[in-house]
Amino acid sequence: SNGVVIVGAGHAGVQAAASLREEGYDGPVLLLGDENELPYHKPPLSKTFIKDVEAKPQPLRGETFYGGNAIDFRPGLRAERIDLGGRRLELAGGGTLPFDHLVLATGSRPRLLPLPGSDLAGVLSLRSIGDARLIRELSGAAGEVVILGGGFIGLEIAATLTLGGRKVTVVEAVDRLLGRAVAPAIGSHVRQRLEAMGVRILTGTTVARLEGENGHVIAAITASGERLAAQMVIIGIGVVPNVELAEAAGIAVANGIKIDGQMRTSVPQVLAVGDVANYRHWFTGGDVRLESVQNATDQARLAARTIVGRADSYAAVPWFWSDIGDMKLQMVGLTSGSDQTVVVGEPDENKFSIYHYGGDRLIGVESINKPADHMLGRKMLGAGFSPSLEVAVGGPDALKAALA
Ligand code: FAD
Repeated sequence: SNGVVIVGAGHAGVQAAASLREEGYDGPVLLLGDENELPYHKPPLSKTFIKDVEAKPQPLRGETFYGGNAIDFRPGLRAERIDLGGRRLELAGGGTLPFDHLVLATGSRPRLLPLPGSDLAGVLSLRSIGDARLIRELSGAAGEVVILGGGFIGLEIAATLTLGGRKVTVVEAVDRLLGRAVAPAIGSHVRQRLEAMGVRILTGTTVARLEGENGHVIAAITASGERLAAQMVIIGIGVVPNVELAEAAGIAVANGIKIDGQMRTSVPQVLAVGDVANYRHWFTGGDVRLESVQNATDQARLAARTIVGRADSYAAVPWFWSDIGDMKLQMVGLTSGSDQTVVVGEPDENKFSIYHYGGDRLIGVESINKPADHMLGRKMLGAGFSPSLEVAVGGPDALKAALA
């Protein structure tokens, strides 16, 4: 057999390879990734790595894992074209790899901002460890940093670089932080604490252009004309899925590669998982493309099961975390249909949770420094258990009693 070829050695690709072996798959497994690195955890990059010159990448699996599990890991190799008829993958620089099944785990990349000056040196975004090394290197000479985008990554970087002694300004186009992702109360709490740390936050405005000197950025000019001195500008305005391989092969794509409940694309021998995959979510009935470690690893596990012929339907509970300064944010569920929220805990002590209801159904819990609430939320949503609002207000003890 030609086995399984996995494109992309990030969180999803590595888990897919590991899960194939755990599921007893005994054909060849080839994992290729275009980065020249042992696959690593991405979340620490924005939280610790960029401020700590001593920090090392944290490998997803040890060096001996791949060989030890007969996973043919090929770093530094880029897939260029899928030959669906011939069932083979063509590689950049020549060479082809035949496959029985192909798993696309190509992830996403930072969205570019077509801004005058965005090609200046010192204008960066953060996705890979290569990006993180560059930020770490350049931030030595960058006392002032401007971050475009008040989403999770932008705010994590803002907190991390502030703790690392930089003067940071965040510029966010809409009028609140973490706009699409969380309840307004979380966004304003995060803002207040970041400002107390010394981060300057401008909302409801954009950067109109970047100013350079000798090819290097020296300032960002806002739409209202304010000049923000900056030796480094980081663009964190979201990501776009790496769909090009699939699209060129005629595989269905719509804000990501379309997959079914078993992770199959419109071509059944080709599966897709992780940031690149768009699917109808069992929890909401809506089409989503989620960007989280949980989504990447749970989808990869299911893809492996599909390949070995034990196709379940995807039913994992979505969850996510982010560390912003002294705030551990944890989210479970999907809250786009939220029409009522209740706050439980002590925002003044930087410890609280927000329970989201859609009608009378609990659809999500967002917590700050309340890991027990988060774990309980995962348990409740996983069990399809929806406590009444009155019980939720009673806090963890009332919830545990109701769940028992
Ligand atoms: P990726 O991890 O991006 O891996 C895709 C890989 O495929 C990449 O190595 C890419 O180079 C490679 N590739 C692409 N095209 C090709 C090709 N043609 N040929 C070969 N290789 C290719 N999530 C959380 O849940 N919590 C967090 O706290 C959190 N923090 C984050 C912090 C940062 C700085 C970043 C960047 C992300 C963070 N995320 C977090 C999101 C999480 O890392 C992603 O959701 C996850 O990495 C998705 O995994 P993936 O395998 O789909 O994609």
